[in-house]
Amino acid sequence: MLLPNAKEEASFDKIDYKRHEFSLDDNYKNKYKGKKFFLKTYGCQMNEHDSENIVGLLKEMGFEEVEDYTKADFLLLNTCSIRENAHNKAFGMLGRFKHLKESKPNIIIGLCGCMAQEESVCDELIKNYKFVNLVFGTHNIDKLPILLDKAFTNNKQNIEVLSRESDLVEKLPVFRVNKYKAYVNIIYGCNKFCTYCIVPYTRGREHSRKREDILEEVNSLVKDGYKEVTILGQNVNAYGKDLYDDYFMGELLEDIAKTGIPRIRFMTSHPWDFTDKMIDVIAKYDNIMPSIHLPVQSGSNKVLKTMGRRYTREQYLELFDKIKKKVPGVCVSTDIIVGFPGESEEDFLETLSLVEYCKFDNAFTFIYSERVGTPACRLKGSIPMNVREERLQRLNDVVNKYFLENNQKLLHKTVKVLVEGISDKKNMYFGYSDTNKLINFISDKQLELGSIVDVEIDIAHTWSLDGRVK
Ligand code: SAM
Ligand code: SF4
Repeated sequence: MLLPNAKEEASFDKIDYKRHEFSLDDNYKNKYKGKKFFLKTYGCQMNEHDSENIVGLLKEMGFEEVEDYTKADFLLLNTCSIRENAHNKAFGMLGRFKHLKESKPNIIIGLCGCMAQEESVCDELIKNYKFVNLVFGTHNIDKLPILLDKAFTNNKQNIEVLSRESDLVEKLPVFRVNKYKAYVNIIYGCNKFCTYCIVPYTRGREHSRKREDILEEVNSLVKDGYKEVTILGQNVNAYGKDLYDDYFMGELLEDIAKTGIPRIRFMTSHPWDFTDKMIDVIAKYDNIMPSIHLPVQSGSNKVLKTMGRRYTREQYLELFDKIKKKVPGVCVSTDIIVGFPGESEEDFLETLSLVEYCKFDNAFTFIYSERVGTPACRLKGSIPMNVREERLQRLNDVVNKYFLENNQKLLHKTVKVLVEGISDKKNMYFGYSDTNKLINFISDKQLELGSIVDVEIDIAHTWSLDGRVK
């Protein structure tokens, strides 16, 4: 048994990790043919992409995926710890799995992802969730075949969680859910340690993939007909700092643009590392989408400081203005937290006034959630839940007003949309515009999924637009 240690997770000690290529041991190839797995993923795009690797590995082992967990031999939750409700959902699901295990004792139940990296979660699993047979973390996904094989053999509780990043493994099998849009990781981990956030503890320190490996992956996506790539990292703008002296996010973005893939997006950008070079490259290349996610978290300097965000309201706005000025037609989205410890009504009003200034095209708004082990948990000035909820409501009213206003500006204009499918609810085609807006649309002709079409906008809603192919 290998358990995570919170102190080690927080440390900056240098790890002597290697980069190597994965290949599945012949002993495991198709060993589980006929067996079925169920996988549920919680959380961000990083987790979704990890799950694409997990599915890739399981398929090479011979497993087949099922959507009904009661039919599965292996049930796995890829978890998220960013807020408490994500925790509660995963524990709730484990409760349902427990009933199944009582009637089918040979099934294997697993938990992986960010929650597995938490000391307190592992303690809880050992004490009260003995029926969970397999626990592994974010740093050893490549060991899944060995660990799962062990769990099927002993049917006991097997916990193997590394506290810090281990070898950077290339060429993990991947089963991409979408056939036109792909995720590509460029950097793992986070060094920022914003005081509210658990990610630096669950994902290790920033470690970048080599540029050759990234470009090889994007080139192979182009060859396979992919139309869009989303470059992923907790903070993509820190790319290269741990690896090179003269090759960073701006340089990488430019090289990815030169591969010719029709659409490039990236997330998430911490304002701290957003360079002028990046802005110039985004403005220069048509295939880098004019849509930037730039989390602000708060509009109050006092709150930004206690959050450890490393920028002031004024610095954020300066960057925001620069991006708006230099990148034609750019849409900016953001993340905002309300109810952070010590946030006064005046602080909150500063957040609202920042939103009034920026008029974001999209915003993910959150109630602050205490995460065990983070510095903010120990801060005085906790805000009562009813006040947090009331602020969220007021904030949402303002952000929604601007979503609609911005969408209305697109009425009778033509936007380029990547055709993704037909929505069940509306019985219309759907896809996203260059600026990442959800567009539902009709067409006289049958459209090829994955093609990029011109759509004229007829109706603007708050979170989507309706139109027709021109
Ligand atoms: N790396 C990104 C950045 O720096 O903006 C954020 C990644 S995090 C997975 C996504 C968002 O979750 C954050 O931007 C923040 O708004 C929110 N978040 C993180 N910790 C939170 C907490 N303890 N309570 C509420 N929201 C939180
Ligand atoms: Fe969390 Fe801050 Fe790192 Fe983003 S930059 S993942 S909010 S610690």
